[in-house]
Amino acid sequence: MNPVNRLGQIAKPFIISGPCSAESEAQLMATAKGIAATGKVNALRAGIWKPRTRPNSFEGVGAKGLPWLKKASAATGLPSITEAASPKHIELCLKAGIDMLWIGARTTANPFSVQEIAESLRGVDIPVFVKNPIHLDIGLWIGALERFWGAGVRKLAAIHRGFSVGNQNRYRNQPFWEIPIELKRRYPGLPLLSDPSHIGGKRETIEKLAQRALDLDFDGLMIESHYRPDEALSDARQQITPDELGKILKNLKYRQSHSPDREFMHNLQSLRHEIDEIDEELLHLLKKRIGYVEQIGDFKIKNNVTIFQLERWNEILNTRGQLAEEIGIDREFIADLLRVIHKESIRIQTLLRRENSSDS
Ligand code: PEP
Ligand code: MN
Repeated sequence: MNPVNRLGQIAKPFIISGPCSAESEAQLMATAKGIAATGKVNALRAGIWKPRTRPNSFEGVGAKGLPWLKKASAATGLPSITEAASPKHIELCLKAGIDMLWIGARTTANPFSVQEIAESLRGVDIPVFVKNPIHLDIGLWIGALERFWGAGVRKLAAIHRGFSVGNQNRYRNQPFWEIPIELKRRYPGLPLLSDPSHIGGKRETIEKLAQRALDLDFDGLMIESHYRPDEALSDARQQITPDELGKILKNLKYRQSHSPDREFMHNLQSLRHEIDEIDEELLHLLKKRIGYVEQIGDFKIKNNVTIFQLERWNEILNTRGQLAEEIGIDREFIADLLRVIHKESIRIQTLLRRENSSDS
């Protein structure tokens, strides 16, 4: 596949938003109008056929939703995009005049389906956004893009939606940012969007994940929005109202890449985010330490013992200093850090003592 940006002059950031699923004409229209009112969205999404893990859940309204999507698109001026998972879907989408298509994560994982869909698009000039496969396998993602390229599809883009790995504690799908970054490295001209809704699986993580994608110089975002998210028939936990969407899009910092070297910027941002997360952990640990300092302060008051004990302070400096050396951190730096922490412990215990004596 040639590393060519074939979406033409896409706006950057290119923002796709809309409900997980089209549910009714009214739902789609109301949502689309809200989204358009943010003034920050470039395309309207809605799933017409929904790939669900278990049968008997809502599997989309099917082809009757296509004219709703077209109407909402016409009313707002936002081009329409939906998921196609078979040649039949493609045929129906093309007949309905849908503007763009995305290939879902489950489809990307299946080369047979991708090949069939790609063949059915031969000679059709429609933009195709390929989501990463559910598996942590960049080869399948690239393979799918190559199959579309091979069938003559030239307006291609990729969407990062995270990867399904057993342990879904924090996010619904783990981002493994290094995978889309590697895709970008191999195909610098290929527009790359991120889908924080499907990565996080919940409303609260959308903004943080979206910012991270922008910081990693992604070209755009796909964010699910529904005019009544709590009533959504699919992915209710991760959908936000158009108003909330507008706020998030306004809050996001759209940074300029300051270096012409994109790889340098990617790596720098990625490392900085690691630092951010470590600092967050450090703060929580310090808070926990302060909790013990307070308990010790109380004990000392009850047992009429001084706040400061020289042996303990020496012990702290020595043991931590030794550990610092062992693991390769400068001993003096750790001693300085401990002095600041210790000073705060003494301040807290002194305050406790004052409060205690004013109580009695
Ligand atoms: C969707 O976008 O609603 C969807 C089903 O996405 P994915 O294929 O990423 O799970
Ligand atoms: Mn969804």
